[in-house]
Amino acid sequence: MRTTVYAARRILTLNPMQPEATHVAVRDGRILAVGDLARMQAWGDFDLDERFADKVLLPGFVEGHCHLKEGGMWTMPYLGWFDRRDPQGQVWPGLRDMQAVVERLRQIDAQMQAEGQDPQAPIIAWGFDPIYFGGERMTVRHLDQASATRPIVIAHANGHLMNVNTPMLAKAGITAETEIEGVMRFENGEPNGELHEPAAMFPVVRAVGNAGLLAPMDDAGMDGFAAICRLQGVTTATDLVNQLSEADLATLERACGRDDYSVRILPAFKAFHGTHGAREGAEHVRALMARNTDRLRFGLVKMMLDGSIQGFSARLRWPGYVNGAPNGIWVTAPAQYETDFEVYHRAGLQVHTHTNGDEASEAAIDAIGRVLCRAPRPDHRHVLQHGQMIDAPLFRRMAALGLGANLFANHLWYWGDQHLEMTMGPDRAERLDACASALAAGVPLAIHSDAPVTPLAPLFTAWCAVNRVTPKGRVLGAAERLTVMQALHAITLGAAWTLRLDHEIGSIECGKRADFAVLEQHPLEVAPEALKDIPVWGTVLSGRVFTARG
Ligand SMILES: [Zn+2]
Repeated sequence: MRTTVYAARRILTLNPMQPEATHVAVRDGRILAVGDLARMQAWGDFDLDERFADKVLLPGFVEGHCHLKEGGMWTMPYLGWFDRRDPQGQVWPGLRDMQAVVERLRQIDAQMQAEGQDPQAPIIAWGFDPIYFGGERMTVRHLDQASATRPIVIAHANGHLMNVNTPMLAKAGITAETEIEGVMRFENGEPNGELHEPAAMFPVVRAVGNAGLLAPMDDAGMDGFAAICRLQGVTTATDLVNQLSEADLATLERACGRDDYSVRILPAFKAFHGTHGAREGAEHVRALMARNTDRLRFGLVKMMLDGSIQGFSARLRWPGYVNGAPNGIWVTAPAQYETDFEVYHRAGLQVHTHTNGDEASEAAIDAIGRVLCRAPRPDHRHVLQHGQMIDAPLFRRMAALGLGANLFANHLWYWGDQHLEMTMGPDRAERLDACASALAAGVPLAIHSDAPVTPLAPLFTAWCAVNRVTPKGRVLGAAERLTVMQALHAITLGAAWTLRLDHEIGSIECGKRADFAVLEQHPLEVAPEALKDIPVWGTVLSGRVFTARG
């Protein structure tokens, strides 16, 4: 087997024993040696590859909470407040008021009419969030202006809410008589078109036949996802909700089975809402683990307790939402969560639990604490995902239970001002995604994008955790800022720990997979405010080189 030695300007290894190097030897997809050129001689002949001679190598970035849908969203209209770049590099301009959203939808309807499309074909759009418009909520009165005949579905950026127009309510059979929690209403009891959480959204999803957002992943979407990963230096990523149906498995195995597929994927089994039977679920995941390859790893389970803070569907402890909104929704009742969690836990699987509000995080910690007393399991690596309002006492309990935290650092930028002004108020906004408190308590820490909720870009996520600034120029909780090295750890080894892969990936050292993020600048040589702007040249996955543009 030939050995290739890559020379680089600098190599930041994330291995504390040997933090910096200039050369790395790769054999059979793994790292053979790290150091200077002289050290490479120990393993005999090699080919010297100098294409990275002016680049900086880091361990390939690990995105511990994102969704493959990030690669498949762009066939649908984007309605977000922030400008956003698609996998082809085209920038979709943000929409800054409700009327601009209605206007874009009206144009799409007109275009569909001009193309002679079925007048009943729905418009399905994404990325919307009314919280940026200062408190006004969207209703059917807005959306019916875009079209009073064609069904319209708008998914919110957070994935937990949607708005529909009157034709879509009719198509879904949602009326004043519908008794589902999460169906928002006008004062006269008629549904206003805003739907919170899976139970309320389900009639719409069923009526549009799993189209759009909830359509199964396809081959083009898998390629789009890999393209985004290359652009951002990501070599390992999760798909943190996947039904793992036969069709899903075929798509995953087709993509990841190709030698030129540039990212390692860990799909997590959807073990909430509409998934029948934890026991069958656990057996399904365990059976799939026999099919694991380097690029496709089964074994993760995703559970969900509450909703989204900016959608006011997260469960909060006292004193609740600062704008007076009622407490949020249990997507899974805590007692049901505990029962199902125990089944997956006893099956030896690793459970990632969505908890946004602090009441939900506390409920998860309470339940997991009881399960671990009944069924102790060393090194279980269960993880709380998002955990946005976890405070120091809860982090200390998590440390005692061996729980990891994957915090949603991108929120500090995308919703930081709204959390201060409208959801949490100024006191609790300081501890939003309290990364430093997690580390101080000894909780293993990762940070994430939840793409497509926010864009996939680990250097940006690290920048959020380091700077904690908002679009209005505030710094939220200066004491919770990470150092650049702590943030880099969270997007490499920290995230690898949450996926039980820290023995294989996350640092550049002998024996690990040859996974690199190839950067144009060294993260410790630029100002912390510039971390997000470091250009990515490409990636290396298990020894195979990919440029950012493929
Ligand atoms: Zn997610």
